[in-house]
Amino acid sequence: MKFRVQLVIEGDNEKPDVVEEIGLFERGQLRAEDLGLTLAEAKGLLRSLQQAVVTEQTAEFAEQQTRCPSCGARRPRKGQHDVVFRTAFGKLNLQSPRYYCCSCTPANVKSVSPLADLLTERTAPELVYLESKFAGLMSYGLTVGILSEVLPLGAAISTTGVRRHVQTIADRIEGELGEEQFSFINTCQLDLDKLPEPGPPLTVGLDGGFVHARDEKHRQAGSFEIIVGKSVVEGGGAKCLAFVNREDAKPKRRLFEVMKAQGLQANQQLTFLSDGGETVRDLQMYLSPESEHWLDWFHITMRLTVMGQYVKGLATDLASVVKTPVQADGDEPDETIIDAADVAHRLERLKWNLWHGNVRRALQIIDLLEEDLDIDGAPFENGRKLHKAIQEFGHYIAVNRAFIPNYGDRYRHGEAISTAFVESAVNQVVSKRMVKQQQMRWTQQGAHLLLQIRTQALNGDLRGTFCRWYPGMKRDSGTQDANAAAA
Ligand SMILES: [Zn+2]
Repeated sequence: MKFRVQLVIEGDNEKPDVVEEIGLFERGQLRAEDLGLTLAEAKGLLRSLQQAVVTEQTAEFAEQQTRCPSCGARRPRKGQHDVVFRTAFGKLNLQSPRYYCCSCTPANVKSVSPLADLLTERTAPELVYLESKFAGLMSYGLTVGILSEVLPLGAAISTTGVRRHVQTIADRIEGELGEEQFSFINTCQLDLDKLPEPGPPLTVGLDGGFVHARDEKHRQAGSFEIIVGKSVVEGGGAKCLAFVNREDAKPKRRLFEVMKAQGLQANQQLTFLSDGGETVRDLQMYLSPESEHWLDWFHITMRLTVMGQYVKGLATDLASVVKTPVQADGDEPDETIIDAADVAHRLERLKWNLWHGNVRRALQIIDLLEEDLDIDGAPFENGRKLHKAIQEFGHYIAVNRAFIPNYGDRYRHGEAISTAFVESAVNQVVSKRMVKQQQMRWTQQGAHLLLQIRTQALNGDLRGTFCRWYPGMKRDSGTQDANAAAA
């Protein structure tokens, strides 16, 4: 069986229809692998179709351009040159005619190339969209590989090109972000009362993660902090955001815009949960009049768990001391010696008090523990570690004391107490592309820009952004533009 694929270019009253040959393929005895189109045939057909359509479109455009746009007089042609235009269906060489400028309007140039002037970007927005989306989620090499495998790209795509496009798109997205403000609250109670009923409560979790840095001057690998946030509407979708802490001049605006995109209005209930780090403590302030701010319970328990490990270590340290001759003689143990079980018990009470939001009591327990460990813990390695940890924990609790609620109460009422829901976003945003690929070291600026593409892709917003820039692009690309951050 033979199949012939033709393209019919419809004519009008003056021009007849034109039929063009697009492809031909044959089939013999039916087998699963050649039922329907093979990938190679599909790519070949798309490529030929693209070439035929584009040739026709540019020919019509060139025809229109033969006349001066101002007076309609015919412009003499001054030859032509090739314009390379990269599309999702192949790299095309377009003939771009050059015309002498008409004398009706004074001009600085003698001739123009309308097609070359129209296609300044030289890459179809649709292809740039695909490159950006995939490069936001995987390496440049994989992006080139996967797109070339499914699309008739030929030489239309390269890692260098993808890198350049991603940079351009990220710059453009960044350029659209409004000015930073100290406060985003600009409503008074009177205005608040006039607002319509707000949407369901919004919960925002903020957390930090580290990636390897590329220090080009010293070739020393350090690391830098990435802040990741996830904003969840009760019973609705989620959006994430991310930025490189030391690179971002507008973190507050960035967070504000994410919440605004979720429909946040000034009278809406808003809960922030954060790890208590300095950056995120400031970031969440003055964004909404109805916001509350809590320290993440998960980060408290992590620190307590580490201290619990030191107590276990301390018990081992102490056990080796007990076997000294003094003990063997039956003397009373030295009363200044520390009791690991007692320390463990005090840590438990500390946790219990924090769980119930009793910060005053928690700080007292910390103070006493710190005092005891300072002297009694000093002879033991784990005692010294524990002393240092409890000291740091005391500082952590003290600076975050305004953000410590009664976790027990919140928990019983089904309210969020932890940023655990941000963990998946942190993993998506930071780990896969940036941490696990050890061979890839990032500059802070490069990482920051890539994060902007990545979060747009994860939030399912990248397509919408392109459609806004290029209104001719269709919103539905036929791909699953699901809100991955909600998963
Ligand atoms: Zn003219």
